[in-house]
Amino acid sequence: MTDKNLKIIKYPNDFLRKKTEEIKDFKDPELLKLVSDMVKTMEAEKGIGLAAPQVGSNLRICVVRVDDTVYALINPKIKSYSRKKEIFEEGCLSFPGKFFPIERPVKVKIRAKDPGGKKLKIKAEGLLARVFQHEIDHLDGILIIDRAVRPVK
Ligand SMILES: [Zn+2]
Repeated sequence: MTDKNLKIIKYPNDFLRKKTEEIKDFKDPELLKLVSDMVKTMEAEKGIGLAAPQVGSNLRICVVRVDDTVYALINPKIKSYSRKKEIFEEGCLSFPGKFFPIERPVKVKIRAKDPGGKKLKIKAEGLLARVFQHEIDHLDGILIIDRAVRPVK
């Protein structure tokens, strides 16, 4: 299995608006290959998160890397949000060089599966919580321009 860098789809490509499909077959070797290529691509692009639609896949997968920990989430869902929110500027590999101020809950609880099909429960806050929310938005076709709290200079 050789990892390769995948091509990043940039806004306004319509593929970024497609809804993704849940993964049911965890035995498919293509799944591990895709996850591994996504991690490689995220690292090569110096990103902290990457969602499958950004590399031309309509599967419900995202990868995140914060504080040297890599997360590969399959079929992720946000189970709860903190009431407290915060505004922070976010970038996105599909919007190179652009940053948008976005308000999001500070803490979230996530349910997902790992690439082997094992259940994951993750409590996240701060940057990690923000990146999970950003990537899960991608899986629903939501982009940072949809959430920007004020027009971008
Ligand atoms: Zn993004």
